[in-house]
Amino acid sequence: MQIGGKYRDVARRCQLLASELVDRVLTPVLPWVCVRCGDAGAGIELCPACLDALPWLDESLSRLSGPGVSGRAALAYRPPVDGMVTALKYHRQRVYGRLLGELLAIRLQELPLQDRLPDCLLPVPLHRRRLRTRGYNQAALIARVVGYELRLPVVTHCLSRVRHADSQTGLGRGGRLQNLAGTFVAHNPVAGAHVAIVDDVITTGATLRDCTRALLAAGAESVTCWVAARALLYSTGVQALNGSKV
Ligand SMILES: [Zn+2]
Repeated sequence: MQIGGKYRDVARRCQLLASELVDRVLTPVLPWVCVRCGDAGAGIELCPACLDALPWLDESLSRLSGPGVSGRAALAYRPPVDGMVTALKYHRQRVYGRLLGELLAIRLQELPLQDRLPDCLLPVPLHRRRLRTRGYNQAALIARVVGYELRLPVVTHCLSRVRHADSQTGLGRGGRLQNLAGTFVAHNPVAGAHVAIVDDVITTGATLRDCTRALLAAGAESVTCWVAARALLYSTGVQALNGSKV
């Protein structure tokens, strides 16, 4: 690594450390402020009006029931939720990890979840190279908050991303499926467990399907997926959304 690159790396690590410090130490004692309008937040970084105005999915649309994937999503992946996800993933604004986790927890607590609660939460892992450049796993930030709110443990060592998938952005459905085949490996501590995979966004469902397959192959009793936002690719109705195109 060149000297300039080394300094850049150190500067980036310091920036991440500072943001982690703010997140863990200062945020809990600071007053809540709405990230949308600046008004006082209601125990969350959104005021009651902005919280209500979010594109919440109703009971049917929140249900994920495509082939190989089942579970729940909280919000539609459209403004302002898409901007929150982008800020979290590409602009290091970790506040949105906490916020999306709170929103997912709120929705999960409201929904009639027929299944028993999972034994643990497994955030979709990043490849170690991506983790190094981003500095954190956005799915793990979300899972940490959901785990706290629902009193469920978050486990990060049972599922690994063994192949570095190129960014999914811009790939079509076929490209995404091909890009992800065999990307995840699960380890057998999940044997016999009912687990919930946690992720930020579901688009084609390819990532969650691959994770589900890996966990079932490692002996998980059942797998559900809990996702903060769902891209409503096919807005022609519930049937289309919950059919083979999830
Ligand atoms: Zn507001």
